[in-house]
Amino acid sequence: MSDSSFRRDYLTKPLFRLAQRALPRLSATEREAIEAGDVWWDADLFTGNPDWTKLLAFAPARLSEEERQFLAGPVEELCRMVDDWKINWQWHDLPPEVWAFLKSRKFFAMIIPKQYGGLGFSHYAHSEVIRKLSTCSICASVTAMVPNSLGPGELLLQFGTKEQQDYWLPRLARGEEIPCFGLTSPEAGSDAASMVDTGVVCRGTFGGRECIGICLNWHKRYITLGPIATVLGLAFKLRDPDHLLGDRDDIGITLALVPTHLPGVSIGRRHLPAMLVFQNGPNWGHDVFIPVDYIIGGVGQAGKGWKMLMSALAAGRGISLPSLSAAGAAFCAHVTGAYACIREQFHVSIAKFEAIKERLGRIAATAYLLDAARRMTCAALDDGHHPAVVTAIMKGQATERMRVAVADAMDVHGGKAIMEGPLNYLGSLYRGVPIAITVEGANIVTRALIQFGQGAIRCHPYLLKEMQALEDADRARGLDAFDKAFWAHVGHSFVTAMRAWGRAWSGGLMAPAPGAGATTRYYRQLSRHAAAFALAVDLSLLTLGGALKRKEMISARFGDILSELYLSCAVLKRWNDEGRQNDDLPLVQYCLEASLATIEVRFDEIIANFPVRPAAWLLRFLIQPFGPRRRGPSDRVVDRCAALIVSPGAARDRLTVDLYHPPATETEHGVALLERAFALTAAVEPIRERMHAARVRDIDQAVQQRTITADEAARLKAAAEAVAAAVAVNDFAPEELAARGAGAGNKGDPSSPAISSTRPSTSDLPPQTQAAE
Ligand SMILES: Cc1cc2nc3c(=O)[nH]c(=O)nc-3n(C[C@H](O)[C@H](O)[C@H](O)COP(=O)(O)OP(=O)(O)OC[C@H]3O[C@@H](n4cnc5c(N)ncnc54)[C@H](O)[C@@H]3O)c2cc1C
Repeated sequence: MSDSSFRRDYLTKPLFRLAQRALPRLSATEREAIEAGDVWWDADLFTGNPDWTKLLAFAPARLSEEERQFLAGPVEELCRMVDDWKINWQWHDLPPEVWAFLKSRKFFAMIIPKQYGGLGFSHYAHSEVIRKLSTCSICASVTAMVPNSLGPGELLLQFGTKEQQDYWLPRLARGEEIPCFGLTSPEAGSDAASMVDTGVVCRGTFGGRECIGICLNWHKRYITLGPIATVLGLAFKLRDPDHLLGDRDDIGITLALVPTHLPGVSIGRRHLPAMLVFQNGPNWGHDVFIPVDYIIGGVGQAGKGWKMLMSALAAGRGISLPSLSAAGAAFCAHVTGAYACIREQFHVSIAKFEAIKERLGRIAATAYLLDAARRMTCAALDDGHHPAVVTAIMKGQATERMRVAVADAMDVHGGKAIMEGPLNYLGSLYRGVPIAITVEGANIVTRALIQFGQGAIRCHPYLLKEMQALEDADRARGLDAFDKAFWAHVGHSFVTAMRAWGRAWSGGLMAPAPGAGATTRYYRQLSRHAAAFALAVDLSLLTLGGALKRKEMISARFGDILSELYLSCAVLKRWNDEGRQNDDLPLVQYCLEASLATIEVRFDEIIANFPVRPAAWLLRFLIQPFGPRRRGPSDRVVDRCAALIVSPGAARDRLTVDLYHPPATETEHGVALLERAFALTAAVEPIRERMHAARVRDIDQAVQQRTITADEAARLKAAAEAVAAAVAVNDFAPEELAARGAGAGNKGDPSSPAISSTRPSTSDLPPQTQAAE
């Protein structure tokens, strides 16, 4: 008997049986979610020993000349066309010319390849478009985002038959068809796989011909673009009781394209998502018959709907909402830095108050971090990866951090950001935050189950192999595979434990790091914590096994650590890729100090709450013998970050690059007024300092005393006027508000579906529509 067969038969076999009971069992939907997409830098972090040269050598995302021109041309033009206030509060829709522009300039076809008439943009270009649009109108941005996100276009591209692609993609590219995707129903939200919408395979007549088809019944809600869609991508559970397709009764979740004009389809009235009026509403189908070849990918893809969805989400989750969130944070940095500079209280610019600086510093660092992570993730996607765990991290973290940045921005603006009207530039973003938090996997469930739960299985060097071996129907083959994976795992765990211990006890001083100037020490700390993370994961899986899945608070904290590691890597990479800008160093320090503090606190919380106490004591001894030590960024770093956004400069420009800047001539646009006031205020700062030194506040008196010249006095007065215009808010006559009142709601009862969407009365319509009518 060879050594290896002795090991397999006498050591591995009993462990194999034990592990079959202990390791988490995967449900069919979990398995499909895990098998969707692939792994990337997340897998490196899970090894406990990330290869920094690989990270730094990874090429940053770049735009082609054509993509650049699209951003400078149609995107800029679209931004100038939209009036967010009127869209949300008066017209309750995008005006017709904006709809026409979106279609004709192919905003709905960014991901559709050129051969089908689309723009064929890279993921990065797609992200840049969404980012810029999000800084002028969330409504326009979501409208452009959805056809390029999870839905018919993406699904057809990945899974459609050639006939389906040839028919639908050119029509979608030309804007002749408006797509939406119906997954969520009243019963099934986060647990979408529990949907009760059905399709039954049967014979019927379609377009005058007899065929095998599907009789559909569904009730979906919250469907973006649903009220105006011409084609609905529908998720339902397919059954085949008469075995017309094969020998299975329950085929499972299936995706099909349903033209919305078919008999039995009801398009409901509109939801109003947080008063952001992008088209969204419920829809129903009653005995709608479609041929089986309307299944996306054809009959061969029947029952594979969940896997298809997860696969499409694996990429899409990393683009739409992270781009919107990065835009949100950058926009907050842009306007809040400017507003804090121009707004005075107690005769001082509020930007000088320490408590305001605390918020400004956080906003600036968040803007830097989110854009770093967005760019790095887009680069991975453009390189052909579909890293499902990374994109889940991006979705959850970007939206959460945007929430904090927007709340900080609101607080710094005070009443200015609360009073609605055309002069308010933060209200829409503030209302939009919960939408971003909820869609594409609500954040609580994303943090608790997806970021780490799937990450542990997906990215761990051996776990998935072990689980597959344990579930192998061929027991002998399974045992063989398990034997190999398990002992490699043991070796890996031993090395990881030694590594984590050594790095923790030496404070990370000896941990690997590239020569990266002032940031080298941060690489060392990340190497240290990656090893600790890998060890803690192994120990948790070993001691908790399948129970870890139900320990959502523990799992979520692991998810936070993995997220912090990923985002910190993105920050370090950005600093490196941008030529190690010295001015940006405080931002890097802020992000890394905050991340390292969070990582240490999360480890501490895991250890304190870990149910298997001896394992917790061992972990404490190995990775955190002295408890959490870091406190986050120092006041000095916070101060320097805040300073970057309260005065014009290259660092501020780098943070807020490529946002939409309304023309300075716009006298009704809050951002235009703010930018003008900011520029004038910053320019007169030296004059004001001179007056301050001379202890004179009154401009005319300063001229009389010859502290300043008459020309300087004029500039000061112009700046003061600009500031007054920028801090102004709107007010309304009671009649105006009465005219704007919303109609009575409808409960969306499927028994009384109203076919029409809420339409503005003619007098409320945008001028172009009135003219057309
Ligand atoms: C504006 C908007 C647009 C949308 N557009 C579309 C669309 O175009 N197509 C479409 O199909 N759907 C769409 N949705 C639906 C969206 O995907 C769902 O709202 C989302 O999946 C959450 O479902 P729910 O709202 O029913 O919340 P629920 O599922 O009821 O969740 C409530 C809370 O429980 C938490 N939770 C649930 N399960 C767990 C768990 N196991 N552990 C911990 N926490 C848990 C969630 O995180 C959430 O915080 C849209 C929603 C909105 C608001």
